[in-house]
Amino acid sequence: MSAPERPASSMPTSAFVRAALVRPGGGLLFQADSQRRDLINESSTRSELVALLTFLVKRGHVIEITAIKADHHDDSSLGVAPLCEGTHAHGWAADCWPLASHTAGDYLDAAHPRFQAFLFDCARAPYLKQIGLAGSAWTPANRHASGATVFEDGGGDHAHLGTHETKSA
Ligand SMILES: [Zn+2]
Repeated sequence: MSAPERPASSMPTSAFVRAALVRPGGGLLFQADSQRRDLINESSTRSELVALLTFLVKRGHVIEITAIKADHHDDSSLGVAPLCEGTHAHGWAADCWPLASHTAGDYLDAAHPRFQAFLFDCARAPYLKQIGLAGSAWTPANRHASGATVFEDGGGDHAHLGTHETKSA
């Protein structure tokens, strides 16, 4: 994104940022329309998740979303009520896989250095709570790139990116 500098009085609103994030060619590809709807709806997903994903696409990563909220099982029990930070059910998390191009399904190999570069950027992204690696993503090199928050996630190949309320260093 290369928006011109704006005076403080007209900083982009959250709705603006959400719309920019989900626009075609904006760096996110969606496996289901519900994922786009969840990200554009501020009552469905947290602004912290939007900020994290925006950070990643601004770093040049192209990301295929595999689950957000409506298309994910209820994982509320993995969080601490009432916020349940880090969970899909409460709008804090995205499951995804980085792509080699803007073509849906052009998945980076889990052993590719660009995959590790993606995880490295996830690890230092704002509001990151945890990185989960599932399936073929769970490798020593990817664990190393993900850093201290990494855990082995269940299910098919994906990376889980969970956020929390407090901005990390
Ligand atoms: Zn997940």
